[in-house]
Amino acid sequence: MRKRHGIYKSPAELRLMTRPGSLTAASLAAVRAAIAPGVTTLQLDSLAEKAIREGGGVPNFMKEPGYRHTICASVNQDVVHGIPGSRVIEAGDIVSIDSGAEFDGWNGDAAFSVVVPDPSRPGVVAERQKLADVTEQSLWHGIAALSRASYLGEVGSAIEDYIETHPSTGSGQGAVRYGILEDYVGHGIGRSMHEEPPVFNYRVRDRGPAVRPGLVVAIEPMVTFGGIDTFTGEDGWTVTTSDGSAAAHWEHSIAVHADGIWVLTAEDGGAAGLAPLGVTPVPIP
Ligand code: MG
Repeated sequence: MRKRHGIYKSPAELRLMTRPGSLTAASLAAVRAAIAPGVTTLQLDSLAEKAIREGGGVPNFMKEPGYRHTICASVNQDVVHGIPGSRVIEAGDIVSIDSGAEFDGWNGDAAFSVVVPDPSRPGVVAERQKLADVTEQSLWHGIAALSRASYLGEVGSAIEDYIETHPSTGSGQGAVRYGILEDYVGHGIGRSMHEEPPVFNYRVRDRGPAVRPGLVVAIEPMVTFGGIDTFTGEDGWTVTTSDGSAAAHWEHSIAVHADGIWVLTAEDGGAAGLAPLGVTPVPIP
């Protein structure tokens, strides 16, 4: 569900989005530090909730009708919207965690994927780690494109170009392409977690809205090791690849302001991720 509030925020509104962004980042950091074999996804959920509430925020995923958790935890062939529960994290799993915080009526939304070490299956771990790395790097390339873009559509083109030029295995004719999900895309974010405009992770005909100060978007490439067809499980939420291939998901919420861009859901504003791409994030004035 997307709500319209006008897609360009005022400088004062952008400043109000830094706190929910930081709380979202804190919740993901807490989860990331705890991911290990033997931990359940419900335990991860409670760590995220604690981090958000201790900072005075509210887990905004709980505001989605019918959803009762702070995070989505999607393991292996589950791409997004996995419900935390009794599932135990195992060595070799690729785990995608999505979290969001609301503070003072404004929202943050971010996600990461991580591969749990498994010395007994180095090939599987390396394969999944590359999937996670390519997905993360496609996000940073999309964010870098946003910093230079005239129109939002340039973000999706940059993400697709990065993924297309980094195949999963081999090279030339032996290269296996990753799949970029098309069933789900990024979004504007502000007073609602999901707002206009959609943010595609691939090239589309429509160039999209102008990128100018006040635009705040959640960019979130979802990438699979195989096909892009998915289905929603019997729980009504979990999105799984139809071919059973592993998937990764990375996301950040980013503000465009008068002096540059700022990654709201990264503690350093995106400095480390963007430095190799020649982009320096600028704090919101
Ligand atoms: Mg999102």
